[in-house]
Amino acid sequence: MRTLTMEAFAKINLWLTVGEKRPDGYHDIETVMQRVSLSDLVSVTRNPDPEGEKIAVHCSDPSLPTDGRNIVWKCAEAFFRRFGIEKYDVFIDIEKHIPQAAGLAGGSADGAAVLLMLNQLCRIRAGRDALCSVGAEVGADIPFCLMGNRYLCRGKGEILTPVHVSSSVSQHAPIYSCAAVIVKSPALSVSTGEAYRMLDEIPPSPEDAEMRKAGLEALLREIRAGEIPRTLYNDFERAAPEGVSALKERLRALGALSVLMSGSGPSVYGLFRRLHDAEAARDRLRTEGEDAWAVRFR
Ligand code: ATP
Repeated sequence: MRTLTMEAFAKINLWLTVGEKRPDGYHDIETVMQRVSLSDLVSVTRNPDPEGEKIAVHCSDPSLPTDGRNIVWKCAEAFFRRFGIEKYDVFIDIEKHIPQAAGLAGGSADGAAVLLMLNQLCRIRAGRDALCSVGAEVGADIPFCLMGNRYLCRGKGEILTPVHVSSSVSQHAPIYSCAAVIVKSPALSVSTGEAYRMLDEIPPSPEDAEMRKAGLEALLREIRAGEIPRTLYNDFERAAPEGVSALKERLRALGALSVLMSGSGPSVYGLFRRLHDAEAARDRLRTEGEDAWAVRFR
């Protein structure tokens, strides 16, 4: 038996616009995703002498499925299929810290970690591109989770372009010490499918339409210049549950420089100049009954 263990990191969306629905049912999106330091801990144990086809999953969060509905299971199955492995026996253990169905890609992060570990455990030596192609079969955010850090993602999310800070920018630039507070109010929940349906029905306001035209370039300029991103935008805020805008206001009142809902929500985050400032805001929000985390960009 050999076991590998890896952290699986959450993401936040700094930018997210949703385009037309495609014939395959997915929507085209344009998003800037940023990996953050909130993580699950995922282990994979492989029996080197498998007799048949066996995947077993354990998860510390009992509300998550541990059968074929779990994203890690789907990823393992897709991996064995792609690389022609007919006999396998793996046990996957997930210590869950990333809130689920929160717009933070926790399931995709777990799935990506499993692909990376199976690649090593089974000595397949597939490159990232091949793993991304397996991951994209299971979920649109998995290719990003395999690559990490910060990418502009297009298509259904699988066409990735890195977004770097310019090499001429000092290592002391604000973006390098920037931190985020993520808030997932226990009172709020979102169904991603429902959120997409609502978006198709609610057209963007004139201000949103303006932002959708010029905002992405402004955000990319801020990042390249090493600034703390200020021009944040998410189409899903149009379909956000009541309570999201109050949380954003609360984050602003606690000193966040910019705020946005992540993914299809309902998590909301605020960006702060330093981790210390973010931790102070997180502590206040926790005393107010919210689930909150202070994280770094990773
Ligand atoms: P995204 O930002 O990519 O839309 P999300 O953060 O909204 O993702 P996830 O936490 O990744 O959502 O999970 C969405 C659904 O997938 C959950 O409702 C859950 O039932 C299911 N799921 C399956 N496997 C997992 C897993 N390992 N971790 C979390 N959710 C999982």
